[in-house]
Amino acid sequence: MLRLRWLWQEWTMPEKPWVGMGTPCSETDKLLFAASTEIRIGDGRKVCFWELAWVAGRRPRDIAPDLYSICKRKNSKLHEALTDNRWIRDLTVGPNCSLHHLKQLVELWFAVRDTSINPDAEDTIKWKWTANGDYTTASAYRAQFLGSVKTDMHLLIWKPWAPPKCKFFAWLIIKNRVWTSDRLAIRGCPRSDVCPLCRTEPESAHHLLVTCRYTKRMWRLITDWINCQQLHPSGWDSTYSVNEWWHFMGKLRNVPKRAIKSLLLLVNWEIWKERNSRTFDRREASTITLLGKIKEEARTWGIAGARHLASFVGD
Ligand SMILES: [Zn+2]
Repeated sequence: MLRLRWLWQEWTMPEKPWVGMGTPCSETDKLLFAASTEIRIGDGRKVCFWELAWVAGRRPRDIAPDLYSICKRKNSKLHEALTDNRWIRDLTVGPNCSLHHLKQLVELWFAVRDTSINPDAEDTIKWKWTANGDYTTASAYRAQFLGSVKTDMHLLIWKPWAPPKCKFFAWLIIKNRVWTSDRLAIRGCPRSDVCPLCRTEPESAHHLLVTCRYTKRMWRLITDWINCQQLHPSGWDSTYSVNEWWHFMGKLRNVPKRAIKSLLLLVNWEIWKERNSRTFDRREASTITLLGKIKEEARTWGIAGARHLASFVGD
């Protein structure tokens, strides 16, 4: 379950008693939160140096994950961390430090060194999906329906049965708000260039979800599992965006429409989680293991109400 509200309160209401006790949120929740907030730096007393996405929309812990892991004070506020480069002195330098650490140190230093603190203004954290910048549970969904009647996107993402977090993720992808490394390059941000799934190609949303050889292997396994040759990657049109690929997949002949749309949301979501677990936790799953997770998840979705998906995958 998404805990965006929890994160919102954690960061915007400092008087709450649970602040600083650590969040019960997953890495994905935090990434969605980062993609959904806009931060303006004032006195640096509210914004947490490592945890919030204040460096051109990125969190320092994503820019420098190895440094984050050796940092003594992960909850430092900006004004503390930036005074005399305190964040650097808070790193525990030990025999395990490597060139990686050094490289990240340089990257992060370049990214934060020109930050200026304005003691006369408060930091502001704005929720992107509402006019007043305040969090509401429904805002992400409502934003989609305001002004747009039934679009293809509605049919592709919002209508099929899937848990809200998966739909929200798909929506962020289509809106180009997910921070894959190609996007970071455009913003001039430090990043790691290579897709963590295949370690050869540059990372972009389209690469991760469509053209990566890991992802294609995944879809070949899925084709065999469901016994539906139409899904085989060798039959896919070439596409240039995730959006385009979704449309292509959504219109495959002799493939049940509602079921394939749920399946797309499920597989994309699992691939994204795998990407994050490799990027942030250094944990890798093979395509076979991931297929196991997808099967299990499909079963759970089926029980929870995804009837079309359940009969498509035949469980
Ligand atoms: Zn790849």
